[in-house]
Amino acid sequence: MNKFEDLFYEFKGKAKDMYGAASKATSEAVDYGKIRYAIKQTEWEIEKTYAKLGEVVYGTKKGATGLEDAIDLAVAEVDLLQEKLAELEARLRAYKNVDKCSACGKENDTDASFCSSCGAKLEKPEATEE
Ligand SMILES: [Zn+2]
Repeated sequence: MNKFEDLFYEFKGKAKDMYGAASKATSEAVDYGKIRYAIKQTEWEIEKTYAKLGEVVYGTKKGATGLEDAIDLAVAEVDLLQEKLAELEARLRAYKNVDKCSACGKENDTDASFCSSCGAKLEKPEATEE
């Protein structure tokens, strides 16, 4: 099996994994830190996918055949990752405007001092990350 066939099979296997992994990571990213982490991971996956896409295109230009499917898969993978990234970024934005009540879990506006649901005092998280 040559290098480009390897790449093709890697793409085929990965595309399948990606759908599961992407939705799993997205649904698990429920707090601020995890969302940020998932965004970084997704950006990194996009870069990796572009790099592989480049290799496959390069191989095609150099005469390797049968890689059209691999190119399609890579493009679909980038699309999927971009969608996921957009969703995570939207979620991060939403997070910045709410404080979650540590007593009952209800989301309150950041300017509220007490939970609108249970009346508990809202802890103000330090916004000093980075
Ligand atoms: Zn509450």
